[in-house]
Amino acid sequence: MSSVILKRCDSYNPQKVEAAVGFIFEQAGGIGSLVNPGQKVALKVNLIARKKPDFAATTHPALVEAVAREVIRAGGRPVICDSPGGPYSKVLLKAVYRETGMSGVAERTGAELNFDTGGVTVKYPEGKVYSSYPVITPLAGADVIIGLSKMKTHGMTTFTGAVKLFYGAVPGLTKAEYHFNIQKLESFSQLLVDLADMIKPKFSIMDGIWGMEGDGPLSGTPRFAGVLLAGRNPFAVDAAACRLAGIKPEGIVYLKAALDRGLVSDLNAMQLAGDPYLPLDQPFKLPGYRNIDFNLPPVAKKLLGRWLQPRPVISGKVCRGCGECARACPAGAISLKEGKALVDLDRCIRCFCCHELCLPRAVSVYQWWPVKKLMR
Ligand code: SF4
Ligand code: SF4
Repeated sequence: MSSVILKRCDSYNPQKVEAAVGFIFEQAGGIGSLVNPGQKVALKVNLIARKKPDFAATTHPALVEAVAREVIRAGGRPVICDSPGGPYSKVLLKAVYRETGMSGVAERTGAELNFDTGGVTVKYPEGKVYSSYPVITPLAGADVIIGLSKMKTHGMTTFTGAVKLFYGAVPGLTKAEYHFNIQKLESFSQLLVDLADMIKPKFSIMDGIWGMEGDGPLSGTPRFAGVLLAGRNPFAVDAAACRLAGIKPEGIVYLKAALDRGLVSDLNAMQLAGDPYLPLDQPFKLPGYRNIDFNLPPVAKKLLGRWLQPRPVISGKVCRGCGECARACPAGAISLKEGKALVDLDRCIRCFCCHELCLPRAVSVYQWWPVKKLMR
């Protein structure tokens, strides 16, 4: 049975986070059981976009710093890495590291920031969607991978944490290509399971001190949960986090897929260590919209889709015409007209990458209220 460690931590005060992280590694058998001297240790963080830590969209630097210090103490060489949303370039990485506080972590600890924007194809013959995947170089070349995720709700998968973190292992716009090619939630969820199982992080810690609820992963509301959750099995860590947040893990398609594939033995009964495991008084608010997979003939689907499916809506007042959404849109459904973004709904595949990426929050998601009510 997979074991999950829970440690309460009520703020990002560096001493408190360091103590909580020390406790977690101790419970896991000591950092020496995970990292050997001289090993290259990839710290895969969630840097979805250029956002300050207070937005609660990205892994908090206090957690990354505490883990980097432990790795260095064990003689390892930590490398901070992720492929954020949008094009995977050095310029973007530099801006993301600065804004999310990772540059400060590197300066204070000596951890390396990854600027290699290449990828390596990794074979995964047991994959349910593909038999190989491109993976960012620092992950492919690491001796040890530690996943440092953020506890958030997600418009497409309902929840995101230790498992979906590894969607960011795929370099740059290949992620958008996958969204275009794999539009069904069931298949996309299998792809998430493929990636997490193929990458096999040696350890996962989820930052749930301040998570995000509502329209995550980028436009939701910061939500205090006051916990760090950790373990060797990322599927078990996510299942425990869901239960804590008042979300049924068996309702999360990628967790159900992992259970069916035997990658986690139970979604509700894992061995728990650390502080007492008590669900939050108030569950996390879920995203305000749901994608619906319906089996209708293509013509009916096209006609009804407009009414049943959620759709992106761009506020002309807020849009500043940066074009970020148009560059990332896998369906080529966004164009810029007179300095404002416009969506062609006939081409749009409802992946909501535009909603995830738009920094000024010009993109909202609209769904017809009777459908929203029905889906509750
Ligand atoms: S919608 Fe957002 S990302 Fe797209 S052009 Fe406008 S401001 Fe930029
Ligand atoms: S318009 Fe937005 S939701 Fe539609 S396909 Fe493009 S990025 Fe995805």
